[in-house]
Amino acid sequence: MTPHEDRVVGEQLLTVKDLRVHFKTHDGMVKAVDGLSYDVARGQTLGIVGESGSGKSVSSLAILGLHRNTNATVTGEITLGGVELLTLTDEEMRRKRGRDVAMIFQDPLSALHPYYTVGAQIAEAYRIHNDVSKSAAKKRAVEMLGLVGIPQPDRRVDDYPHQFSGGMRQRAMIGMALVNDPGLIIADEPTTALDVTVQAQILDLLQKLQKEFNSAIIMITHDLGVVAEMADEVLVMYGGKAVENGPTNELLVHPQMPYTWGLLSSVPDITSDPNLPLRPIPGNPPSLLSPPSGCAFHPRCTFAARVPDNLCSTTVPALEQIEGKTFHLSRCHLRDPEAVYHNEVLAEGPAGASAIAAQVAGVLPNAPRHLDAEGGES
Ligand code: SF4
Repeated sequence: MTPHEDRVVGEQLLTVKDLRVHFKTHDGMVKAVDGLSYDVARGQTLGIVGESGSGKSVSSLAILGLHRNTNATVTGEITLGGVELLTLTDEEMRRKRGRDVAMIFQDPLSALHPYYTVGAQIAEAYRIHNDVSKSAAKKRAVEMLGLVGIPQPDRRVDDYPHQFSGGMRQRAMIGMALVNDPGLIIADEPTTALDVTVQAQILDLLQKLQKEFNSAIIMITHDLGVVAEMADEVLVMYGGKAVENGPTNELLVHPQMPYTWGLLSSVPDITSDPNLPLRPIPGNPPSLLSPPSGCAFHPRCTFAARVPDNLCSTTVPALEQIEGKTFHLSRCHLRDPEAVYHNEVLAEGPAGASAIAAQVAGVLPNAPRHLDAEGGES
């Protein structure tokens, strides 16, 4: 039994097992994703977090088969709705894209083609998978624009992307992703380019549509506030590997390893003294070409010295189930991390960790979600 198999979830939609995405370069093999396993059920949101280069986006692009015909070697298993994606032909994979799995990209201005109207692009995405006339596809595009909250969709359907605001473009992207009612939506930093009020509207929209379509969502983000608000489960990635995985309210309140502590501590806490300095994670993400020996986080980890026998710098910790929890995996050699976190990390003073924990508990509402479109409190 894998660690994931003993938890109660809805109908399993996506299973990723021992996924490896390696890129052959002139300097050697870049191991962008190195043995990643997780699964997502229908109607569930999985938040994947980590710094740039941790493998979040690369692993998700592998689900869409977007590393095919590149210098990447992809191994492992990706099973979507019972179908193993890595063994499909290019044509079979092309038919899955958009219909069974769709992506909402970070920058809609780059993702939408500037030469075609927004409506034509949504209609095209619909016609690829449905044998319908152009006028029926346009009608569907108008319907989708209305569904994602674009005012006067029958008129705006003929606008070009540059005639839409940033928030409207992101809504249009969501409409395009949902036009074929895919079971799985991968949202790669979908609100990064948006201001906080529009971000809140887009997240609300995604949640509303997820309920309506019963889709599973993989939300790739570096924003733990978004994760606290949106995700049912969190997967923390570092150096191409999962380093912590568990239910959101468990993982964000009882994080078990120092990298997750660092992510939480570096979140600005809007309730604390604004003169207090931020607490960034020291150092830089590891080279994926020649990663550090042992735990990839050890050169940056202030707790490594506590682990005996130089274990952190010599032995890669296994991703293991935390004793006494139903489902919470962590990759760390440190003994009794829960006590270290509560007695030492949190005791250092106010930090984002407390704010995120309060947000998870519903004590501290996520401020942007309570602002109206003009930025006033509602
Ligand atoms: Fe730090 Fe060691 Fe845990 Fe890695 S295994 S996070 S270096 S304590």
